[in-house]
Amino acid sequence: MSPANARPAIDVSFEFFPPKTEAMDETLWASIERLAPLAPRFVSVTYGAGGSTRERTHATVARIVRDTKLEPAAHLTCVAATREEVDEVVRGYWEAGVRHIVALRGDPVGGPGTAYEAHPGGYAQACDLVAGIRKVGDFEVSVSAYPEKHPEASTFDADIDALEKKVDAGATRAITQFFFDNAIYYRYLERVRARGIRIPIVPGIVPVQNFKQTASFAKRTGASVPDWLAARFEGLDDDVETRKLVAAAVACEQVTDLRANGVSEFHIYTMNRAELAYAICHMLGLRPAETTAAAA
Ligand code: FAD
Repeated sequence: MSPANARPAIDVSFEFFPPKTEAMDETLWASIERLAPLAPRFVSVTYGAGGSTRERTHATVARIVRDTKLEPAAHLTCVAATREEVDEVVRGYWEAGVRHIVALRGDPVGGPGTAYEAHPGGYAQACDLVAGIRKVGDFEVSVSAYPEKHPEASTFDADIDALEKKVDAGATRAITQFFFDNAIYYRYLERVRARGIRIPIVPGIVPVQNFKQTASFAKRTGASVPDWLAARFEGLDDDVETRKLVAAAVACEQVTDLRANGVSEFHIYTMNRAELAYAICHMLGLRPAETTAAAA
C-alpha cells in the first residue's frame, strides 16, 4: 500500500460556477479551501449561458490565480460575442497568467432545446473557438464530449465528427457530459478510439446533491437517468441527511467501477460544494498533500 501522502496515479479536476451573491461567494471559497489540499490537476470555472457571467467568471479565475496555487481553467463560449470580443477575453486570461481554457460552443441564447444561431462575426462552433484560442497563445484547451450524443447532433457519428474537429483544431482533453450508467461511457470510449481520437476523454462525475434538480438538468442535456437511480432516491425529497449518504454511495460506486476499468482521470461537477467531491476523492485513494496547494 502506498504511504498516505504519496500521490496515487489519479488525477481529479473540480468544476465550480461563479458565485452571484456574497453568501455564495463564501460557500465557493470554503469549498475551494477544503478541496485544494487534494491537489487537483486543475479547477475550472463555468461561463454562464449567453456569456452572462463574463465578469464574474473572470473575477473568480483571477482570484484563483492570485490567492491559490491551483491551476485554473476558464470556461468560454462562442455565444453572443464577436471573434474580436472573445479573443480579447482570451488575451486577458493569458495576461492574468491563465494557461487553460475549456472551449465550448455554448447553449442557444433561448436556452437548450431552442435553435442555435451563431453570432454574426462570432465563432460559429466550438472547433472554431479552439482554433482561435490556440492562435492567441499556447493554451491547454479542454472541450466537451457527449457519451449519449449531444441533443442537437443528427447522429452519433456526426457528434464524434464534431469532437474530431475540435481535436484537429488543437483540443488536448475532452470532458464528458455527466452520465450514470458506466456502460454508456465504456461504449462511447470504444467508438471514439475506433475513430482514432487519442486525447483523454475524462468522465464528468456529477454527485447527486438533489435528485429532482439533477433529473431535470439531465433531461435538458440529453443525459439519461436510469430507473435504478430514481429508485435509490425515492422518498428522500425531504430527508437531506439520508440523501447525502445515498448520493455519496452512488457516486463512490460509480468512480470505483470506472477506476477498476482503468480510468485514472476524473472531472467532478462540484456545484460549489466540497463534501461529496471530497468523499469521492477519498474513495479514489486521494489524500491531502503534505504541503497544501491552497493559500499561497
Ligand atoms: P460542440 O462540441 O460544438 O457541438 C456539440 C454537438 O452539437 C455536435 O455533435 C455538433 O455537431 C452539434 N451541433 C452544434 N451546433 C449545431 C448546429 N447548429 N446544428 C446541428 N448540430 C449542431 N455551457 C455554457 O454555457 N457554459 C459552460 O461553462 C459550459 N461548460 C460545459 C462543460 C462541459 C464539460 C460540458 C460537457 C458542457 C458544458 N456546457 C457549458 C454546455 C455546452 O455549452 C452545451 O452543451 C452546448 O449546447 C454545446 O456546446 P459544445 O461546445 O459542447 O458544442
